[in-house]
Amino acid sequence: MSKIKVMNEDLANKIAAGEVVERVMNVVKELVENSIDAEASIIKVELFESGVKEIKVTDDGIGMDKEDSIMAFSRHATSKLKTLDDLFNINSLGFRGEALPSIASVSNVLLKTSDGKVGTMVTLEGGIVKEVKSCDLVKGTSITISNLFYNTPVRLKYLKSLYTELANVSDYLSKMALSYPSIKFILINDSKELINTSGNGDLLKTINNIYGLVVASKMMEIKGENDDYKISGYISYPELSKSNRSGITLLVNNRYVKSNEIVRCILDSYHTYIFKDRCPYVVLKIEVDPFLVDVNVHPTKMEVKFSKMDSLTNLINKVISDRLSNKTLIPKAIEENVEDNYYEDKLEVNYEVNDRIVDKDKKVEEIKFDFDITKKEFENKEIDNIEIDNNIEELNPRLKEMRPIGIVHGTYIICENPDGMFIIDQHAAAERINYEKYYHALSTHSKNTIDVLIPYKIELPNNEYLILEKHFDILKELGFNFEEFGSNTIIIRSHPTWLPKYAPLEAIKKIIEVIVNNEDFDEDKFNEKVSITLACKMSIKAGDVITMPDIEYLLSELRKTKNPFTCPHGRPTIITYTKYDLEKLFKRAM
Ligand code: ZN
Ligand code: ZN
Repeated sequence: MSKIKVMNEDLANKIAAGEVVERVMNVVKELVENSIDAEASIIKVELFESGVKEIKVTDDGIGMDKEDSIMAFSRHATSKLKTLDDLFNINSLGFRGEALPSIASVSNVLLKTSDGKVGTMVTLEGGIVKEVKSCDLVKGTSITISNLFYNTPVRLKYLKSLYTELANVSDYLSKMALSYPSIKFILINDSKELINTSGNGDLLKTINNIYGLVVASKMMEIKGENDDYKISGYISYPELSKSNRSGITLLVNNRYVKSNEIVRCILDSYHTYIFKDRCPYVVLKIEVDPFLVDVNVHPTKMEVKFSKMDSLTNLINKVISDRLSNKTLIPKAIEENVEDNYYEDKLEVNYEVNDRIVDKDKKVEEIKFDFDITKKEFENKEIDNIEIDNNIEELNPRLKEMRPIGIVHGTYIICENPDGMFIIDQHAAAERINYEKYYHALSTHSKNTIDVLIPYKIELPNNEYLILEKHFDILKELGFNFEEFGSNTIIIRSHPTWLPKYAPLEAIKKIIEVIVNNEDFDEDKFNEKVSITLACKMSIKAGDVITMPDIEYLLSELRKTKNPFTCPHGRPTIITYTKYDLEKLFKRAM
């Protein structure tokens, strides 16, 4: 029986066929999705001159009989879609069948296919069938599209550079490989192999095939579900990041999709773990009832919308934050030397390596210093009066105890413990500690205030004062007691206790600066901005002289933080040379 059914007119009209074949990538996409629908386990894409000269897609799928192989090129024929409703059922790849006639109309096509009973070969030129004959019987389909756009010179002009066309195909196939780890994908351009995935069903293995071992070894598995959604996949350690979002792959019911909202949610979840403007590697699989997927989906843009978006973003946020807060995330100073992408056994060993088990009973022996400890006290640059949840240290010692050795370049604290040697950036570490304290104080609406002996007088430029005036409520909410005093001036009589004691006026000015320069008064974002600004300005700087007791204090406070590994801007606070790294460097170990 024919597997292809004729689409009804309504559906046909909904699809703008022309849009589907603008790029080499669109042609490859159409052919590859046909192969997937045909249950292929191997899909090989061969390009010549980035596909502009020739595109050949070969699969080992179920193939077609003679009738279907001719029908495949007639307009409005499709095996996948019967009604409009099917279009939005994201379980099917959809839109199959429509584009093939469009592709054929602007190229030369050679189709060889066999369903295991008959082998058929169809030749077309500019969409016209030139020849149909029998051919050999290897089950599967191979389709060759050559001279794309040969009869429409205008379109040809719009093809981008060969490099761009190839990059788009490669990106698309990478995403497909990640969507279908059980299918082996091969991409070859001008006889050069660019992608070759194992197709063994293992997603991490596929990540290794696509991004290489360095990336695969720094991915951690995630999993979670709620009433509406189920998510799974892999996310990278924060130390591994890219300057763009191309390392983020979203799959909805196995279909590769794009969603700015979800990407934003992922980036938010990495919040302060990752350097500003950097993006992690993420392969996120979302399983959902198709009814929750918004129907206003454009077929070629791969954009989706979910009707219960909050439920989904909450789940993603929770799962990623939990995962990040459950790992020891100290970047190693020395990268593993990786030359080859394909050594599986190495991969097995590596990717849980950072999951160190924290040994609570192991106490670091008495600390001794040959260091001048009489220097001035930490310049009072700590914040007191704030109850930080001291249980965190007990429950979640993400950082093992370390013995401080000394400081180099007035900035980097050297420590050791049985695991190895650690280097801590004193500013970044102090910034993280202070950030969490300020943020805690702000978000718990800590209302303890202190009266100042001599009230602070703060005068602002007129334009700034006008903005501040509009947000007096925010200052009050923060715990400031103040009054207007003449023109463009306020007098502050008391302030919250959590302000740094040694420079409250400076801190107040910073807070006012944030208020005046802020458009977004979302409470969380505002609190965060104030906390980061204060933490950065009020923490010990690189080069500031600190004493051993200061260091000890810094280390113990750092161990109490929720995320001791990065400063609030996402820079690392600590890196390590493991004991093994050192042994290797000195050739004690090979
Ligand atoms: Zn800073
Ligand atoms: Zn920072």
